[in-house]
Amino acid sequence: MRVSIVGSGYVGLVTGMGFVKLGNGVVFVDVDDRKIEMINNAQPPIYEEGLEELMREFKGKYYATKDYREAILNSDVTFIAVGTPSREEGSIDLTYVKKASEGIGKALKEKDGYHVVVVKSTVLPGTTEDVVKPILEKHSGKKAFQDFGLAMNPEFLREGVALNDFLEPDRIVIGVQDERTRRVLEELYAPIDAPKLFTDIKTAEMIKYASNAFLATKISFANEIGNICKKLGVDSWKVFEGVGLDHRISPYFFRTGIGWGGSCFPKDVRALISKAREIGEEPLILEAVVEVNERQPLKLVELLKRHIPELKGKTVGVLGLAFKPNTDDVRETRAYVVIKRLLEEGAEVIAYDPKAVENFKRFYPDVGEKIVYADSAENVLKATDVILIVTEWPEFEELDYSGRVVIDGRRVRAAEGSARVYEGVCW
Ligand code: NAD
Repeated sequence: MRVSIVGSGYVGLVTGMGFVKLGNGVVFVDVDDRKIEMINNAQPPIYEEGLEELMREFKGKYYATKDYREAILNSDVTFIAVGTPSREEGSIDLTYVKKASEGIGKALKEKDGYHVVVVKSTVLPGTTEDVVKPILEKHSGKKAFQDFGLAMNPEFLREGVALNDFLEPDRIVIGVQDERTRRVLEELYAPIDAPKLFTDIKTAEMIKYASNAFLATKISFANEIGNICKKLGVDSWKVFEGVGLDHRISPYFFRTGIGWGGSCFPKDVRALISKAREIGEEPLILEAVVEVNERQPLKLVELLKRHIPELKGKTVGVLGLAFKPNTDDVRETRAYVVIKRLLEEGAEVIAYDPKAVENFKRFYPDVGEKIVYADSAENVLKATDVILIVTEWPEFEELDYSGRVVIDGRRVRAAEGSARVYEGVCW
């Protein structure tokens, strides 16, 4: 099949390259000239394991353009994978989804054959039918479910293992209304061996929010118990190992630390809270989930101050800036909160991350310009004897932390085994 992908970021690029690997031709659409040029040179504009190799191997089977018309006229299915960020007060910002829908609608007007539009961006229940559909219909002059197909297919990939998650997902959820659209998506996803759940469109949208809200809750719950464990002198990791053995609970994604960040959980939980309030529901659990998560990274600095009460003028090393290992994504990273607090305390900060330094500087100029960056983790350890571990990059397990004070937000065993003073945030 010929597939076009509108929005070539973490989700769009991985999804598109996944479809290329499955034998489809793919056209990427983006508004960012730099990304288009890089994709056309088989260079990934983001870091994701295996992506560069895949782009090189399949060069010629995909290309990128700014031109919606060209992409829509030369494909059978279009995925909308643009960002859906939070507004200041937490509600979802649909600006990019609306723009993408307009561009696709205008191109659809000129298209003779049947075309299917699929919303892959995370959007609140009702968005595909009440926002995307009217825009597509207005600009195309055509009727959804009749002249063109429309579906909602939420994405569950995890950055860092995203290509694998595309090819071997736990499930594929497809929200459809009409048979023809369903058949097109069944065919497109046929090579992937995973449970496929067909629902109505609104339910598919909600499954994504409920999944992310539950995962965020699992971590905040673990951290709340972990904070109690810490005060009681109990190792919360052992506790959750024991808890996770209950098959009703499951051991996955059940670790204590300094909380969740990234491009999804924070904005999605906030958007769901905002929607709930708008419709007169008080989301008590979700509000607490966010509150626990906001406090959690600051525990690292609190623990540090137990060992070094005066941080003014002290150089503190920060290992990790990405919101999690194996990605260069820094959106809502805990590193920002931790470093901001360190600077407020008057500390000097030297930081290292294998992939995320440039993004960190760009996203957070307020703190990013006030700190020093080391070109290796070893050089952070050479520069100071006070270390905070913020992201658990595998290479941090290779370091010798002897003689150092280490406050660990993620549980790096090498630090636990070799530091002069070692404190884990929940263990
Ligand atoms: P991203 O910011 O990395 O990518 C979005 C891309 O869309 C950018 O390249 C941007 O330039 C482009 N874009 C913006 N406006 C456009 C327009 N009008 N036309 C064409 N391109 C446009 O975002 P992302 O992380 O890939 O997330 C995309 C969606 O997928 C979001 O709704 C997100 O919640 C959801 N999602 C993300 C993840 C993840 O791990 N990143 C996982 C599951 C779902």
